[in-house]
Amino acid sequence: LTERLQNAFSKLRRKGKITESDVRDMMREVRLALLEADVNFTVVKNFVNTVRDRALGADVLDSLTPAQQVLKIVNEELTKTMGDTAVPLNKAPHIPTIIMMVGLQGAGKTTTAGKLALKLKNEEHARPLMIAADIYRPAAVDQLVTLGKQIDVPVFEQGTDHDPVDIVKAGLDQATLQKNDYVIIDTAGRLQIDQQLMDELVRIKALAHPNEILLVVDAMTGQNATEVAKGFNDDLDITGVVLTKLDGDTRGGAALSIRAVTGKPIKFTGQGEKLEDLDVFYPDRMANRILGMGDMMTLIEKAQKDYDAKEAEKMAEKMRENTFDFNDFLDQMGQIQNMGPVQDLMKMIPGMANNPAAQNLNIGDKDIDHLKAIVYSMTPQEREQPELLNPSRRRRIAAGSGRSVQEVNRMIKQFNMSKDMMQKMSKGNMSGMEGMFGG
Ligand code: GDP
Ligand code: MG
Repeated sequence: LTERLQNAFSKLRRKGKITESDVRDMMREVRLALLEADVNFTVVKNFVNTVRDRALGADVLDSLTPAQQVLKIVNEELTKTMGDTAVPLNKAPHIPTIIMMVGLQGAGKTTTAGKLALKLKNEEHARPLMIAADIYRPAAVDQLVTLGKQIDVPVFEQGTDHDPVDIVKAGLDQATLQKNDYVIIDTAGRLQIDQQLMDELVRIKALAHPNEILLVVDAMTGQNATEVAKGFNDDLDITGVVLTKLDGDTRGGAALSIRAVTGKPIKFTGQGEKLEDLDVFYPDRMANRILGMGDMMTLIEKAQKDYDAKEAEKMAEKMRENTFDFNDFLDQMGQIQNMGPVQDLMKMIPGMANNPAAQNLNIGDKDIDHLKAIVYSMTPQEREQPELLNPSRRRRIAAGSGRSVQEVNRMIKQFNMSKDMMQKMSKGNMSGMEGMFGG
């Protein structure tokens, strides 16, 4: 999904000015990308129509950054399709809050039950009880018991010889006695939806009156995940979805279709096999992920808001003439300070979150004063000709500024990195910056 969209966008971006037919071409690519990612056909159709109508508006075509505007619209509509905002777990007015996990075999119900219990324990100091109501796979009860031990959460089980409804009833009684604030019911699955399974789940629901019926679906199953979601929702009127295995090589289409087809929110995503790998689902972040751009929109918006375009132009000019010096460096520090911690900004750039370069640019608020002190200890000539800064001059500057030689060296390194960055932006406006981030 990501690659195809990115190609389409970079094609659009290279054009600068775009026409109506460019937008239509672009929308064809978006449509194909979504279909390839197994997004439901009707969802794709509605999505593409909405984006196209917005993108063909005069304000987009006439804008100075049309490609960016289109990207922004796609991003916004993706977010909207997935529900706009994160939806928290339902809570019961009186304890316990009862959560019922449902889904096909292998989707990740049991694992997610454990992950959720751990999350509640860690974040709310909750005392959950898990109930083992999958009596069909012999190992299922053991699996939950083992998970419970790992995270120190009690598991109610009666082996595999009782009716699951009776097990749930006994488990709920125990939770009431022991004042557990959450009960998580792990149920059986099948390879496909079948009536027998649904009947059992309907009976458990009727008995337990769960506050939350979480459908667990495997994101890797693409189009099928949407069918499954529809099937479960028709019979059980689910309250939310957990999309698992998003850590895998999934095309991510399920996230888009499920909300649109069932009208039910995705509440969590599974990001791995470890018990910590459960995240709250944020539609905007997922949209960014689908577009493969980290938090790039946030970054661009932030940069546009805070970075003075005239100032940037002036700097770029200096870069072109290679006159960017330590005086400009100081100005730049001020600009960057206005934008927030550099590391935070760098993290929003795709691929930079774990890049050592981002860590090296370690410029915090209080460091700025030190940097200033160092620059002020340079002679005017040194400030304008940084290449003069040989070891003996560096030692003198260190002594003069009360900073260590290492610090002076580090700051000169930062200066050079900053200069590098400026060079990449030296097309002279934000599209230069866009080129750098979109790359
Ligand atoms: P159930 O049959 O629905 O209870 O599924 P399980 O909880 O037993 O999970 C089936 C398999 O999927 C197990 O091997 C899990 O470790 C794995 N699994 C579950 N959630 C995730 C996830 O988010 N990412 C990955 N990579 N594996 C997962
Ligand atoms: Mg299971």
